[in-house]
Amino acid sequence: MLAKELDIHTYGDLLHYFPYRMLDRSRVSTVDSFDPEENYLVFRGRISDMHTVTTGRSSRLEATFFDGTGGMQLVWFQGIKWIKESLKAGVVYLVMGKPTLYNGVYQIAHPDIEAASMDDEHRNHSYMPVYSTTEKSKARGLTSKVIARYTQTLMQQLPPRLPETLPQSVIAKFHLMERTQALRTMHYPDTMEQWQQALMREKFEELFYHQLDYQYLRTARRLHSVGRTFGVVGERFNDFYHNHLPFPLTGAQKRVIKEIREDMRSGRQMNRLLQGDVGSGKTLVALMTILIALDNGCQACLMAPTEILATQHYANFQRMLDGIGIRTELLVGSLNPGKKKSIKSRLANGDIDILIGTHALIEDNVQFARLGYVVIDEQHRFGVEQRAKLWSKSDIPPHILVMTATPIPRTLAMTLYADLECSVIDELPPGRQPIRTSHGTDAQRAVLFNFMRQEIARGRQVYVVYPLINESEKMDLKDLMDGYESLSRSFPQPQYQLSIVHGKMPAEAKAYEMDRFKRGETHIMVSTTVIEVGVDVPNATVMVIENAERFGLSQLHQLRGRVGRGGGQSYCILMTKDNLSSNSRQRIETMCATTDGFAIAEADLRLRGPGDLSGLQQSGMLDLRLADLVDDEPLVRAARDEVHDILEADPDLQQPDHFPLRKHIANTKNQPQWGKIS
Ligand code: ADP
Ligand code: MG
Repeated sequence: MLAKELDIHTYGDLLHYFPYRMLDRSRVSTVDSFDPEENYLVFRGRISDMHTVTTGRSSRLEATFFDGTGGMQLVWFQGIKWIKESLKAGVVYLVMGKPTLYNGVYQIAHPDIEAASMDDEHRNHSYMPVYSTTEKSKARGLTSKVIARYTQTLMQQLPPRLPETLPQSVIAKFHLMERTQALRTMHYPDTMEQWQQALMREKFEELFYHQLDYQYLRTARRLHSVGRTFGVVGERFNDFYHNHLPFPLTGAQKRVIKEIREDMRSGRQMNRLLQGDVGSGKTLVALMTILIALDNGCQACLMAPTEILATQHYANFQRMLDGIGIRTELLVGSLNPGKKKSIKSRLANGDIDILIGTHALIEDNVQFARLGYVVIDEQHRFGVEQRAKLWSKSDIPPHILVMTATPIPRTLAMTLYADLECSVIDELPPGRQPIRTSHGTDAQRAVLFNFMRQEIARGRQVYVVYPLINESEKMDLKDLMDGYESLSRSFPQPQYQLSIVHGKMPAEAKAYEMDRFKRGETHIMVSTTVIEVGVDVPNATVMVIENAERFGLSQLHQLRGRVGRGGGQSYCILMTKDNLSSNSRQRIETMCATTDGFAIAEADLRLRGPGDLSGLQQSGMLDLRLADLVDDEPLVRAARDEVHDILEADPDLQQPDHFPLRKHIANTKNQPQWGKIS
C-alpha cells in the first residue's frame, strides 16, 4: 500500500515523506467554540456511552465525547471490536479530527485518539506530523497516524549521522541545518522555529540540486560539446541587411543578433532562449540569424505551433527574402502527400535552404542534408520531448534558438531554463502607442458596438475572441456561434463583412478566412484562441475578449498583443459577466493597469501558481516538492548563484567538498537528459 498509493518504496523514501503540516497538540479546541472551518482539530476530554448500532448488515460503533464545555458524537464504521477494547471510560484523551454536522449534532468519524497523558511524557513533542494520504490508503487503514508510527520507529533506528548531501562550505555560508537533524526535525520538531529551519534546509537542497542538474549540463556543454562553427557573416546576410531590411533594427534586436552570432561562431552548440514581448520583433531576429546559418553552408528550419502561424511566417519570409535567391518551403500537415514527398526529398538532397512548418517537421521521415540551425517559435507550446527529437536530426547538433512571447517571471526562468542562455528583447519597435485596455459587461454592449462601428468607419479592423478552453466542448463552440450570429445581426452585410475561425474548421477554410481578414476584406474576425499566438495584422486596432474572466493572464496578454502592431492607437476591451470572483477581478484589473508582459507574468505566477502558467504544466520540469517559486524566490536565487559559483570554480566537481555533488551527477547520468535541448 505504501508503494502503490504513496510511492514509498524504501526507508529513504519514508524519511523524505515529509508531513504537509504540523499539528500543535497543545492548541486544544473546545466543543462550545471550535472553528468549524478547520480541517483538523484537537479536543481533550472523556469518552463514555460506547455502544454498537446495527442497521441491516452493517454496524457502527458510537460513543459520546465530553470536554467540560459540551458534547460530541464519535463514530467508527471499521475496526469496531479493537476500538471498543482499547478505549476506556474515564480516561482523558486527545481526540482529533474534523467535526461535521450530522442530524443536528457534531460528530467526528474515525477520530485519531491518544491518551492525553502521552502528551505529558512527550512534553517536548507537542507537535504531531500530519502526512498526506489517499482515499484508498485511508480506507485500508494507512492513515496519517499510522505513517507517523512508521516514521517514529524510523527515527529510533536512524544512525546518529547520515552522510551530508550538501558541501560544508554551503552549509556554513547559508547557516543551514545539518542533514540528519533537518530530516528528524522535518518529522518531529521541538518548536515551530526549528521546523521552519529544517524546512528551509530541505527547500534549499531541493533547489540546489535542481539547479545543479541543469547548470552542470550547461557547463558541460559549454566545455565539451562541439557545434558547427559559423565563422562568416556572408553574402546573404549582408545583402539582406543592406538592401532588403524593411526598417532599421531596434537596439534590442541588434544586441540579440550579436549575442546569437557570438554563440554561433564559438564552436560550441548554442541553446538560447529568446524572450520578447508580443510585437517586439522576434521574427526578424530569427530570419537574420537563419541567414547566417545559410551563409555558412547549412540548412535551417523554423518551427511554429500552429499552421496559421507557420503559414504566416512562410509568407513573411518569402516577402522579405524576395530577390535574394533563397529556397524556402512550408511543410504542414494539410499539404497533399505528393507535395510533402517532394519537399522531403528536396530537403534531403539539400535543395531547400529554409524549411518552415509545424510539428510535421519533427516526424522521423523528415531528413535534412545539413541542418545547422533550428528556431522554435512560441516555445511553451512544444513538449520537451518534441524538441529533443530535433536534436537528433543532424550528427553535429544544430544551434537552437527558442523564442517565446510569454514572458517568464525571473524565478521561473531561473528554474525552468537553468541550462539555457537567455536573451531578452526589452524594447518595442518605435512608434507604438500603448494599448488602452478597459473592462465591460453586457450592460455596455451597445456602447461597445458603437465604438466598433466607429473604428471600422475609420478603416480599422476588429477581433472578437471567445474562450475555447477545450475545443471539443460543445458548450464553448455554441458560445462562439451564438456570438457570431448576434454580431452578424448588429453588423449586417453588405456594409460589414465578418470572418470566423475556430479549431474545428479545416485548415484551408481557416487560412482562407485569415487571408481575407489580413487583406482587409473583412472587418471583424470572430474567433477562438487559435489566433492567440503570433498572428500579425497591423491594421487591426480593437481586440474584444468575451468571457475574459475565463482566460489566464498570460493568455489575455497574448491576445491583446494581436493589436497595437501598426502605428494607430489600439484598444482592448475585456468583456465579463457581472459578478466576478476576487481572483478574476484582480486579473482584469492587472490587465487594465499595465501592458508590461513581465509585470503580468509575475502577477500571473502570484495569482495562479507556477503549475498553471500556460503550457508549463506539461513541461514536467516543475517537479519541486517543497519549494514554492513565488514565496521562495530568495532561496531560488541563492541556490542558483551558489551552484553557478561552484561550477565556475570547479566545473568537474573534483574538490573534496564537492564529493556529494559529483556523486549525484554520476547517479543521474543515465536518465534522459531533456535539459540538453529545452
Ligand atoms: P513578435 O516578437 O511578437 O513575434 P513580430 O516579429 O511579429 O513580433 O513583429 C511585430 C511587428 O513589428 C511586425 O509587423 C514586424 O514587421 C514589426 N517590426 C519588427 N521589427 C521592427 C523594427 N525594428 N521596426 C519597426 N517594425 C518592426
Ligand atoms: Mg511571433
